Amino acid sequence: MAKQVILTGLRANNGLHIGNYLGALLPMVDMANKHAAEYQINLFVPDLHSFTTPIDHMQLYEQTINNLKIFVAAGLDLNNPNIHIYRQSFIPAHSELTWILDCFTGFGEMSRMTQFKDKSDKLSEDRISVGLFNYPVLMAADILLYGASYVPVGDDQSQHIEFTRDIAERMNAKFGELFVVPKPVKEQHAFFGKDQGLRIRDLTDPHKKMSKSDETGKGVVFLGDSADTAKRKIIGAATDSLNEVRHDYTAQPGVSNLLDILTLLGGNAQDFVGQNQYGPLKSAVAEKVAVFLDQFQGSLKHVDTSALTHKLETSEVAMNAQASQTLYRVQKAVGLRVA
Ligand code: ATP
Ligand code: MG
Repeated sequence: MAKQVILTGLRANNGLHIGNYLGALLPMVDMANKHAAEYQINLFVPDLHSFTTPIDHMQLYEQTINNLKIFVAAGLDLNNPNIHIYRQSFIPAHSELTWILDCFTGFGEMSRMTQFKDKSDKLSEDRISVGLFNYPVLMAADILLYGASYVPVGDDQSQHIEFTRDIAERMNAKFGELFVVPKPVKEQHAFFGKDQGLRIRDLTDPHKKMSKSDETGKGVVFLGDSADTAKRKIIGAATDSLNEVRHDYTAQPGVSNLLDILTLLGGNAQDFVGQNQYGPLKSAVAEKVAVFLDQFQGSLKHVDTSALTHKLETSEVAMNAQASQTLYRVQKAVGLRVA
C-alpha cells in the first residue's frame, strides 16, 4: 500500500521572527524529519497563494528561494527521499484542479469562510480579489492532488480543512472514489499534538503575539536582526512590578514569555524561577538569543543553493507525476477525457 501523505505549506514571506521560528519552522522541520520514515512528506511553497492580497511581485521569486533556505538552515533535510520540497506554481495541476473544484463549490459556502471575512475587512473593496475569495479551493486542490491525510494547520485554517473534506466527499459521492478524504481536524490535532498553539509574545506588549506586521518592530526579534539589536530588544522587554520570576501568563505575561523563549532555545528556566529581580533572566535570554542568531545566520549563509535547486527540480518532477495522475482521474470523471 502507498504511504500516507503528510502535507504542509511553507509560506513565502519576508521578515520572519523568532516567533515564526519557534512556533512554526522548527516544529515543521522536526515533524518532517520525525515522520519521514513512515510517511510521504510534502513540503511545498504556496507561491500561487502569495498574491491573494497585494505584494511586491519583483521580490516573489527570490523570496520563495530565501524562505526555503531558511527552512534548510533550520534543519530541513534535503537528502531524504521521502521528503518532497516543491513550488506550487511548478505543478500546473494545482491550478487546473482548482478550476474544476471551483465549479462544484457553492458561492455561499465560500462566503462563510471566516478567514476571507477577516482578511477582506482589512482591504478596500477594489483590492479584494476573487483569488482571496476562492483561496480555500486552491488549498483543497493542494491537498487532494496528493491524497494527503494529514495537514497540520492552526485554528485559522481548520475551516479550510473541513471544506476540503466536504468537497472531496461531494465529488466522491457524485463520481466514485476520486479522492482520499483528509482526516477530520480533531484527528489532525491528535496526530500532531497540540503544541501547534504556542505563541511567542511581543516584547513591548506581551498581551499580544509577536507579529511581523507590527508597525514599530521594537517588540519583535527578527531572524535577520544583529545580535546587538536583539539583545537591546530583550533587555528592554516589558515585564511587571511584581518582582518575582514566575511562569504565569495571566499575571506576568512578559516574564512568562521570556522564560518560554529561554526554554525553547535550550536554556534552563528553572534557574530563574523564584528570583526577585528580572535583570539576570533578561541577560540570560539576551545571551541565548544572540548566540542563536549568530549560529542561525551562519548556517543560512552556508546553505548550498545548488543542492536546494537540485532538490526542488527532483521533487517537482516526482510530484508532477503524482498530481497529474489524480488530475487525469478527475478529468475523466467530469468528461474532459475519455473514461
Ligand atoms: P502577519 O503579521 O503577517 O500575520 P505573522 O508574524 O503572524 O505575520 P504568519 O506569516 O501569519 O506570521 O505566520 C507564519 C507561521 O508562524 C504560522 O504558522 C503562525 O502560526 C506562526 N506564528 C506567527 N506568529 C507567531 C508567534 N508569535 N509565536 C509562534 N508562532 C507564530
Ligand atoms: Mg499571522
